[in-house]
Amino acid sequence: MRGDITAQDVDAIVNAANSGLRGGSGVDGAIHKGGGPQILEECIVILNTQGKLPPGQAVITSGGNLKARHVIHTVGPIWRGGASNEEETLASAYRESLNLANQYDLKTVSFPSISTGAYGFPLDKAAPIAIKTAAEFLRGESSVQEITFCLFGVDAMDEFQKAMDAL
Ligand code: ADP
Repeated sequence: MRGDITAQDVDAIVNAANSGLRGGSGVDGAIHKGGGPQILEECIVILNTQGKLPPGQAVITSGGNLKARHVIHTVGPIWRGGASNEEETLASAYRESLNLANQYDLKTVSFPSISTGAYGFPLDKAAPIAIKTAAEFLRGESSVQEITFCLFGVDAMDEFQKAMDAL
């Protein structure tokens, strides 16, 4: 679907965060702005406990003032031309977010298009990875029943639709 992920009424929305977990631009900024200071406080506790979050991994906080009950923060890869394991790291960001949703017994999860903004991952390469990883996850046993991709732009909508059709 096309929309603003901060308005999604789901068990968890996923944040395309950065390793520092202190908020930033793009979807990260919008989620912290919408959710209020509670989310940042929880991120700082996580940071102080386990250090920076490496690309491809995920952590969870409450949703603060958002409609979503939780925010899963994951770090996608920065696109460096494609030979630095970017594709596997992007798949891992989706997979680890979904594993965390399952650990917390969540049913509905909404993702933005991770890494395709400031991190520069080409949309036509990212969309099939997102769709394929989500589909593979749904084929296995887990609490997750519905995965939504909540996309901001027309370009993202086109590429995700193409990836769905190809699947
Ligand atoms: P990254 O640093 O992982 O590339 P960005 O936030 O820069 O993350 O961009 C990721 C994607 O999120 C982009 O496609 C951008 O258009 C989209 N985006 C930005 N704000 C929102 C929002 N409020 N809801 C959904 N998607 C958003």
